[in-house]
Amino acid sequence: MLKIDGSHGEGGGQIVRTALAMSIVKNTPIHITDIRANRPNPGLSHQHLMALEAALEMTGGELEGAQKGAAEVTFYPGKVSGGNFRFDIGTAGSISLLLQALIPPALQADEVVEIKVKGGTDVKWSPPYDFFEEVFLEHLRAMDLNVSSKLLKRGHYPKGGGEVVLRVEPGSPRPLPTGEDISKVKGSAFVSSLPEHIMRRMRKQVLKEFVDIPVDVKLRSFDSPSPGTGITLWTEGDISVGIGVLGEKGVPAESIGKEAADYIRSAMESGFYLDRWSADQLVPYLAMSNGHGELKVEKITGHLGTNVWVMDLFDPGRVKLEEKEDGPYLIY
Ligand code: ATP
Repeated sequence: MLKIDGSHGEGGGQIVRTALAMSIVKNTPIHITDIRANRPNPGLSHQHLMALEAALEMTGGELEGAQKGAAEVTFYPGKVSGGNFRFDIGTAGSISLLLQALIPPALQADEVVEIKVKGGTDVKWSPPYDFFEEVFLEHLRAMDLNVSSKLLKRGHYPKGGGEVVLRVEPGSPRPLPTGEDISKVKGSAFVSSLPEHIMRRMRKQVLKEFVDIPVDVKLRSFDSPSPGTGITLWTEGDISVGIGVLGEKGVPAESIGKEAADYIRSAMESGFYLDRWSADQLVPYLAMSNGHGELKVEKITGHLGTNVWVMDLFDPGRVKLEEKEDGPYLIY
């Protein structure tokens, strides 16, 4: 039984999700204490409970103490079976975060896993759906994994109502290939139950910011129970860095477009390989890969340091962070 201090480092829900995923991958029972102790509403929230219950359903293991607000939980993993699963987070809880906890276990099933989830597709402090599909899953595909996702409905805070289907073929990742070339900037802007000029203005601003490289931003309009808007930009070529920015009431569409474009521009100039969000989210896959590598990261965030710390409990020394002369690196 591995004991995990849920208040370590960033001390958020990520510790629960990563520990849960790795518990199944490594077939190691876990006992997590002081869950989300550093958050204003400590203990398990709805989204984290859903991840634990979903993992339980997928593996047929055992779960003790999983209640809303609980500071401790124990999980005994079972074996992941393939097939179709459906989960309803019930609110605008983040679909992408739930799926992130379930992908590493699903890779170990003996047949294809298909997971349909209802909840929020684009909610604050979590990967916006387009970032999840175009940046995060693209990294997994570059690691030779067959993982694909389809957006059925957008869902935003507070009502949710989003729907996504994820398909995972069993497999084990190879190291993430690296290179230097960036050939294009791509993007996706959307509105859900809001006027279409918002996304057009976001795109117009992005096109203004890049004159020296091809840019292609798709526009999509949705109906959803609560309104929402946002833009995700990413680079194509050897390097895939991305950013997703959600619109906010009172913030002009041009500012949202500019924030995303400025980030991509500075990423291209700095030459790091993983943006600050992909870096923490990829740690489990680097640890699971059948080889080694070094990846320059944008910066060592609390989430990145904490995820490397969780991984170290399961597989000491497998993934490390190192400050080199030209910046921080993830070494695996
Ligand atoms: P808590 O409520 O405890 O903060 P949580 O489970 O909602 O918990 P965190 O533990 O803070 O969340 O983890 C958030 C995850 O979402 C991290 O992996 C982070 O990289 C990712 N994330 C946050 N914002 C973005 C964004 N704009 N784009 C991509 N990923 C994001």
